[in-house]
Amino acid sequence: PTTETPVPPVAGAALRVPLVTGGDIGYANLDHAASAPCLDAVRSAVDEFLPWYASVHRGAGFASQVSTKLYERTRDVLRRFVDARGTDTVVFTRNTTDSFNLLAKALPRTTSVVVFDTEHHAALLPWRGPNVRRVRLPRTRLAAVSVVDEALAACPQGPRLVVVAGASNVTGELLPVAEIAAVAREHGARVALDAAQLAPHRRISLRELDVDYVALSGHKLYAPFGAGALIGRSDWLRAADPYLAGGGASKLVTEDAVVWNSGPERHEAGSPNTVGVYALGVACAQLAANWDAVGAHEAELLERLRKGLAGLPGCAELRLFDAPVDRVGTVSFVVDGFDPGWLAAVLSAEYGIGVRDGAFCAHVATRRLIREVGAEGQQAVRVSLGLGSTAEHIDRLLLALRQIIARGARWEYAKADGRWAP
Ligand code: PMP
Repeated sequence: PTTETPVPPVAGAALRVPLVTGGDIGYANLDHAASAPCLDAVRSAVDEFLPWYASVHRGAGFASQVSTKLYERTRDVLRRFVDARGTDTVVFTRNTTDSFNLLAKALPRTTSVVVFDTEHHAALLPWRGPNVRRVRLPRTRLAAVSVVDEALAACPQGPRLVVVAGASNVTGELLPVAEIAAVAREHGARVALDAAQLAPHRRISLRELDVDYVALSGHKLYAPFGAGALIGRSDWLRAADPYLAGGGASKLVTEDAVVWNSGPERHEAGSPNTVGVYALGVACAQLAANWDAVGAHEAELLERLRKGLAGLPGCAELRLFDAPVDRVGTVSFVVDGFDPGWLAAVLSAEYGIGVRDGAFCAHVATRRLIREVGAEGQQAVRVSLGLGSTAEHIDRLLLALRQIIARGARWEYAKADGRWAP
């Protein structure tokens, strides 16, 4: 692979993902919010790189040099992808969960953390101790900003951090990140953005949003599993103990002392996931070069999906979590009288449609939304769009839901090992 430009943008065609076909109908993957299929461009870049990868930072050999160069250049790709400040650091992690756990470990000990109780567990649970305030997410954007304002005002003196998702993984709803960041600034607080669901859909600018940290996952960004990043202010990260202790994090080790590195390697001990990081960079560069196409594709399909679900004939029992807000291509719903797991199993077995059912690692949010639409239960069905989605997938889903609801829950499916199966 060339080290000149590891990520040549190939407009249009670059955004293709291999659609799985087989049998009479192709598989309709409507579960992009869980993990997105790998872009063609990422697959070919990885294929080209595989014969050359080697351990980074450690060897004079050509393969090690190539790997190190691509690995280090990917920091710049990520920096550009989120429009980071020149002084921000890019630490490679395994995923968003890993990024927030790293940040939680790196916070100054007395930091007060304000977080909405409806966040994904990856953004909700890493913060521990008496200084964590979980606040209730209100229904309006304006109120969300005031809630953060009040929570910060009630925090003791000292460092403060607000944690917020850019887009909900349950409803796709976009949160007012810039407004929240502005209020946080007034209190001298920092903001960490959970971009796991936002980054695959919208351009992010740390400078424009004025947020301090962003966490993201490669597998939601059309790259394979195992690589993610925490990008943001370097001071706390530089001052903190290494996330993991080991080789790579340490600059000098003597019989009785260790000097840790002060750059991002401080938190990247062990042989890193060079191929995953490279793939993440290629995916980010392809998205960055194609935001218009990504946005247009999604807007059209989301409109089709929402209209279709809202007007499904004879399906009054389908209750959509659908507040009129700006959102990415994710919607969730429950259907009266139908177990969400059962519905998802039938969609898969009979229609070749993959959706997610459950509480989406956002138990509080899901439970609350179910109550808000006047239903019972703890779980819902989620449909999430991405570059692998087509109008046919949506039409097939709408038809499938009509047919399934019309015929009622059938006995041919039974629960085995906690899952419904034919
Ligand atoms: N935040 C949000 C909003 C998510 O949707 C997810 C993944 N479902 C995560 C964080 C965690 O991402 P990962 O599992 O890749 O760590």
